[in-house]
Amino acid sequence: MLKTDVLIIGGGLAGLAAAKALEGKKDYLVAERENRPGGLAATLKKGAFHFDYSGHLLHLRWPETSKLILGALGGNCSRIRRDARIYAHKSWTPFPFQANLSGMPARVKSECVSGFLAAYNSGNAGPGDGAETFSRWTRRVFGSGISQHFMLPYNAKLWQYPLERLTTEWCAPFVPMPRPEEVIEGAYGKKTEGLGYNTVFNYPKRGGIGALPNALARDLGGLRLGLEVESFDLRKGVANVRHFGPVHFKHLINTSPLDEFIARAEDAPAAVKRAAARLRHNTVYVLNLGVKGVKSDMHWGYFPEARFPFYRAGIATNFSKGLAPRGCASFYIEIATDGSVPDLASAEAAVIGGLKACGLIKSSSQIVERLWLKIPCAYVIYNRERAEALPVIFAWLKSQRAESIGRYGAWKYSFMEESVKEGLEAAAKLLK
Ligand SMILES: Cc1cc2nc3c(=O)[nH]c(=O)nc-3n(C[C@H](O)[C@H](O)[C@H](O)COP(=O)(O)OP(=O)(O)OC[C@H]3O[C@@H](n4cnc5c(N)ncnc54)[C@H](O)[C@@H]3O)c2cc1C
Repeated sequence: MLKTDVLIIGGGLAGLAAAKALEGKKDYLVAERENRPGGLAATLKKGAFHFDYSGHLLHLRWPETSKLILGALGGNCSRIRRDARIYAHKSWTPFPFQANLSGMPARVKSECVSGFLAAYNSGNAGPGDGAETFSRWTRRVFGSGISQHFMLPYNAKLWQYPLERLTTEWCAPFVPMPRPEEVIEGAYGKKTEGLGYNTVFNYPKRGGIGALPNALARDLGGLRLGLEVESFDLRKGVANVRHFGPVHFKHLINTSPLDEFIARAEDAPAAVKRAAARLRHNTVYVLNLGVKGVKSDMHWGYFPEARFPFYRAGIATNFSKGLAPRGCASFYIEIATDGSVPDLASAEAAVIGGLKACGLIKSSSQIVERLWLKIPCAYVIYNRERAEALPVIFAWLKSQRAESIGRYGAWKYSFMEESVKEGLEAAAKLLK
C-alpha cells in the first residue's frame, strides 16, 4: 500500500504547479489519468501538425506565475500582439465588437451606437452584482443594438444555456466595457486598441502550448501517468486508484472537475452530493484542420451568427509557424453543445462551408489533416444553482482540510495562469 503526504488529483497546469512547489520539500504523488501531462493545455501531434485543445494563449498578469511559466519555457516563447476579429453581416470588424463597430454596415452601427447611448444616458448602466442574468445585464449595460447583434447570439452559442438564467459573475474580466467616446470613435473613427484582457499574449515558439506542461513536468519525481482516482474517503485519508490500489494520504489537492470529484467522495454528506449534482457545464468539440492555400493573417475570429455552427475559429500558425509544415495553416474551430453529441461528419462539412463563406479558406484550399478533440467539461455554467452549491461544497472541503483548485476543481471560468497560481498557493499552504 502506497503512502504519501500529499495526493494531487490531476496533472494539468494546476496539479503540475502544486507539485513543482512541493518538489524536494514534501512527499507528494500526482495521479494523472491520461498518459500525458498537461490536461487541457496539452498539444497532440497528428501527421506533421501539432494541435492544441483550441487556442491556448498565455495571458500573464502576476509576477510569481509569470516567472515560473517563462522560466519553464526558457527561450521557447514569443510575445504577440492580438489580431482578433468578429465576422457578422458579411463583414469583419476588430474585437471587441462594442468598441470597434467601424467594420459593420451603417444600419448596424447606428443601432448599436444609439442603443449604447440610450443605455448609458439612462443612468442605469453600472456594473451590477453578478447575480443579474446575462440577458438583462447586456441590455442594461450595452443597450439593444450591441446586445442583439453580438452579445446575445454569441453568448447563446458559446454557453448553450438560456441567457435568461446565466448569471454574470464571470463577465468583469472577460467582457470589455468601453466608455461612450470609445464606442463612438470605434464606430466612426479610429480602431480602439488595447481593450480586453488579451491584447498581448505569449505562446511557445515550438511544440504548441503543450511545451509548457511538458517543461513543468520534466523534473517532477512524484508525477504518475495513467493513474485514475476512482474514489476516496477524506476522513480516512485513502484514495482508490484504478489498476493500482489504495493510496494513503495526509492532504488532498483536487484539480479534476468538482462535480465528478464530489461524486467520487465516499464520505461526502448527502447535502454536499446534492449540491454537486446541481452543477452544470457545456461541452466543446474542437475541429483542428491542416489546410494548404490560406491567405489570412488573423489570429482568431468570433462568429455570433447562427448560420455558422462554430462560435470561434482561429489560425494557430499565425502565432506559431512551427505548428504546421511549410505552406500549410493550422485551424482550430470550436463548436459548443449542451452535452448533445453532434454528427461530426455533417458538422465538419458545415464548418468548411462556414470558413469558405467568410473567406478564411478558398474553394481552392486543400484540407490535408483533420483532428476532432472533445472537451467534455469546457465552460462551467454560472447560474443560481452554482452560487448556492459552491458554498455548501467548499465548507465541507474546508472542514476536511482538502483543496479543490484549478478551472474545474474550483468550478469557474479561469485561465491557465490562474490554475498555475492556485497550484502554487495550495502548495504554499501545506508548506507553511
Ligand atoms: C475551449 C477552451 C479554450 C481555452 N483557451 C484558453 C486560453 O487561450 N488561454 C488560457 O490561459 N486558458 C484557456 N483555457 C483555459 C485552460 O484550459 C485552463 O484554465 C487550464 O488548462 C486548466 O488547468 P487545470 O489544471 O486547472 O485543469 P485541467 O487541465 O482540466 O487538468 C485536470 C487534470 O485532471 C485529470 N483528471 C481528471 N479526473 C481525474 C481522476 N479521477 N484521476 C486522475 N486524474 C484526473 C485530467 O486528465 C487533467 O489532466 C481554455 C479552455 C477551454 C475549454
